[in-house]
Amino acid sequence: MVRVRVAISGGSAVGATSALLFARSGWEVLLVEPETRRFVGDGGLPETAPRPGAPHAVHAHGLMSRARYELRHRLPDVYDDLLAHGGTEVTLDRLCPPALVDGGRDQDDDFTCLRSRRVLLDHTLGTAVRATREIVEIASRATGLEIDATGSVPRVTGVRVDGATERADLVIDAGGRRSPVSSWLARAGVEQPVQVDPGEVTYYSRHYRFERELRMNRGFADAHLFGSVHQFMFLGDSSTAMVALCTHDADPLLKRLRHPEACEAVLGANEDFAEWYAVLEPVSPVFALGSIDNRMRSLVRDGRPLVRGPAQVGDSLAMTNPTRGRGISMGLAAAGRLHDLAQEHTGDDLTHSYDAWQRDSLAPYYREASASDTTMTSALRASLHGTPVPPNAPDLELPHGHPVSADEVERAARLDPDLFRVVLRASMVLDDERRIASPEVVERVRRIGAPAAAPAPPPTRRLDDRAELVGLLADYA
Ligand SMILES: Cc1cc2nc3c(=O)[nH]c(=O)nc-3n(C[C@H](O)[C@H](O)[C@H](O)COP(=O)(O)OP(=O)(O)OC[C@H]3O[C@@H](n4cnc5c(N)ncnc54)[C@H](O)[C@@H]3O)c2cc1C
Repeated sequence: MVRVRVAISGGSAVGATSALLFARSGWEVLLVEPETRRFVGDGGLPETAPRPGAPHAVHAHGLMSRARYELRHRLPDVYDDLLAHGGTEVTLDRLCPPALVDGGRDQDDDFTCLRSRRVLLDHTLGTAVRATREIVEIASRATGLEIDATGSVPRVTGVRVDGATERADLVIDAGGRRSPVSSWLARAGVEQPVQVDPGEVTYYSRHYRFERELRMNRGFADAHLFGSVHQFMFLGDSSTAMVALCTHDADPLLKRLRHPEACEAVLGANEDFAEWYAVLEPVSPVFALGSIDNRMRSLVRDGRPLVRGPAQVGDSLAMTNPTRGRGISMGLAAAGRLHDLAQEHTGDDLTHSYDAWQRDSLAPYYREASASDTTMTSALRASLHGTPVPPNAPDLELPHGHPVSADEVERAARLDPDLFRVVLRASMVLDDERRIASPEVVERVRRIGAPAAAPAPPPTRRLDDRAELVGLLADYA
């Protein structure tokens, strides 16, 4: 039975997931997305191609356990389809230090993460959307909101598309990091609280295929952090790999990485990556993207909804840079939570309950990710200007004055399989209850009392030497 109508602006990963969830719960769904057809190939596997509406979608993506958890539990057929088209599961024993691999625990399946190129994820969700009768798709851009400003609090009653107004009981903004919805609201006098944590990192991503899989040094990813360039690799579906080189936006030398040959010269000079490099065959150009901030918005100020009728999900709600690989996980978690709450709440109740979830559960993940991104930005900037490198931001947010530090928790976790699981739940966006901050964890960390590691000697690697980089990149102006 069709109940109420939801209009969704943006049909990428998070918008498409929202559309499927609401449609399957009996809502009438209107999905507005100009780029829908781009996800769908000609019957074969989709290939990564530039998308003006989501330029980051061509960049290296790792999908953390929460992304896989949400898909597998909420959209199991879509998840199976992803696996059928080459998506691969990575189980806990691949993520764990070898010494901690044991017989397993009941909830260990939650930790499994998924290898899939972003394009396969979007393609698979797009295929499911298209097969769903209750979703009406409009292949166009939303151009505005219909707002009734007669009451004490303005109410969004629909979206404008192709010169017409599409009425809706709930309007979901899934328009991503450049969504125009917040500026439309601002024009109507609705100024959302927004936290901005600037990022000054440029990402250069290239896609590869490989014939023989090797082990990655961080289980979920392969990472190498040099002074002026941080290198990450994620594996995708169907024996694909995605490598990202991260540099400071203002670094003139490393802008040369946009040339495929320059990118290869740097990867080839990374001694610790030599084995992997020997099995990689490039299959794409180099994609570059820079100057991307972390940003989180709210539709509530001082406990009062600023507007009735809209909700935001995905990057339009909380966008984080890839430093922690959390964007899709946070977006799918938000889509799932909004869907659940909307089955029981309407109007201000829905806004309040969703905002409470955002503050309690989503915001800590945002703050951790933006803190890591700020640290990475500062480290790359310090290398460029020859100033001291700042210490790492803690990976985990603990309450102010907490009796143990994030560093102590992480050190103890490397010695204890149960604690390792608690830390991994927080890192993989599975710990909405923040068990990581509980008294039981404090007690266990103290009992283990892991000693501090001796400071590592300064690395002597080719890519840490700026003069070496200058030589490597000399031919690529
Ligand atoms: C360089 C980089 C690397 C990243 N790596 C990772 C990673 O490793 N792991 C991870 O989990 N996350 C990663 N992320 C974050 C992740 O890409 C985002 O969190 C994710 O794309 C958010 O999905 P979304 O559906 O909210 O928005 P998007 O994917 O940005 O989609 C927004 C959609 O809205 C549409 N749209 C915009 N305006 C309108 C309009 N007016 N009307 C209709 N439609 C509209 C666009 O066409 C687009 O399709 C990375 C981000 C960057 C920048």
